[in-house]
Amino acid sequence: MTTPAPTALTALTALTALTALTDGLDALLPGLRELYRDLHTHPELSLQETRTAAVAAARLRAQPGWEVTEGVGGTGVVGVLRNGDGPTVLLRADMDGLPVLAATGLPYASVDRAIDRDGNDVPTMHACGHDMHITCLLGVTALLAQHRGAWRGTVLAVFQPAEETAEGARNMLDDGFAERFPKPDICLGQHVGPFPTGVAVTRPGPLMAASDSYRVRLFGRGGHGSSPESTVDPVVMAAAVVLRLQTVVSREVGASQAAVVTVGSIHAGTKENIIPDEAELKLNIRSVDPVVREKVLAAVCRIVQAEAAASGAPKEPEITPLNAFPLTVNTADATATTIDGLRDVLGEHAVLTLPQPINGSEDFGLFGTELGAPSVFWHFGGADPAAFEGLDPEVLATRGIPAKLPMNHSPLYAPLQDPTIELGVRALLGAARAWLADGE
Ligand code: ZN
Ligand code: ZN
Repeated sequence: MTTPAPTALTALTALTALTALTDGLDALLPGLRELYRDLHTHPELSLQETRTAAVAAARLRAQPGWEVTEGVGGTGVVGVLRNGDGPTVLLRADMDGLPVLAATGLPYASVDRAIDRDGNDVPTMHACGHDMHITCLLGVTALLAQHRGAWRGTVLAVFQPAEETAEGARNMLDDGFAERFPKPDICLGQHVGPFPTGVAVTRPGPLMAASDSYRVRLFGRGGHGSSPESTVDPVVMAAAVVLRLQTVVSREVGASQAAVVTVGSIHAGTKENIIPDEAELKLNIRSVDPVVREKVLAAVCRIVQAEAAASGAPKEPEITPLNAFPLTVNTADATATTIDGLRDVLGEHAVLTLPQPINGSEDFGLFGTELGAPSVFWHFGGADPAAFEGLDPEVLATRGIPAKLPMNHSPLYAPLQDPTIELGVRALLGAARAWLADGE
């Protein structure tokens, strides 16, 4: 008889521990499906997640051992499960929906509406899949509570509001998170996306872009459309700003670096023969390197001010920040450990390393940076693998998903309920298990 190599032995121990934890998942699935459909039918806008938070808190309280705190930073919910000596692992799920009219045709699609913070009556939809994140986290918390003999340590389950507006993580942290809850040794988070079910993607280092949004008010002097010489036309000023901003990335950012400058909204005037007093632009800027970010932000401010001056504006433009998402950076060695945990459950070849960061953004990274802990985030698949037939997984990691698949935020976006719930539970549990200590 030969002794197994230490690596094989370690892998076998990890797998046994994991099997002990996932025991009972099948029995949980009907309840998780019912929860998912309920959340999917009743999405709530950022900072309005009262029903969602109450559902999450009630489910968590029903699981033995969880200490549950509601109202953290608004509608945030934090669960703590203390289970002896061992690392403290923070698991985060975001809870907010979007003002999107669902067009999925699913029997459980939302027909709910809400009043947004500008007073508009808008449709609501879980178009980013945050309902899936809540469901998967509650599956993991249930299994951890059921199998306390299979692991040791402390788990923090964080149900975060307002990810879409980059306010939720900040609000929870500003509400005394660090003083009120155990300090995590690792922060873990996952996001569903249009990758094949069973696949997870991530990378060490920068994973998702920083995103900065601004409102720009350009001031002119209005007047009759027939006499532009007696006005300062903010429409022409705005047009010049929009065009000149296109040169920031093409002329000021190096070819090997990445940034995006998008003017997503432009508004001025009411009628064709009135030159208005002002114009408003809304900009979004993405970057994956702090130095590039500073450079791009400075260039945008410089161009807005200079174009206003070039037009003879009677007043300096106003540039107001709307929201700012930090760069999402995966701690390098922590990513390797987490990938091992994901591979234990999803399989050796199901976890892909992205060659470059994605331009989407997240506020998850604030938990790690503010609480002084390493953090790792990954995306997991919720799309029918049939749509990827013949596509090499490596191609998927390098070139991205097929264009025909609806992306998050699309009115058509919805992950497959099955097997996404089960695989999302397994992925988060596998990653958490990689950090927790072994049971007795
Ligand atoms: Zn989103
Ligand atoms: Zn999202």
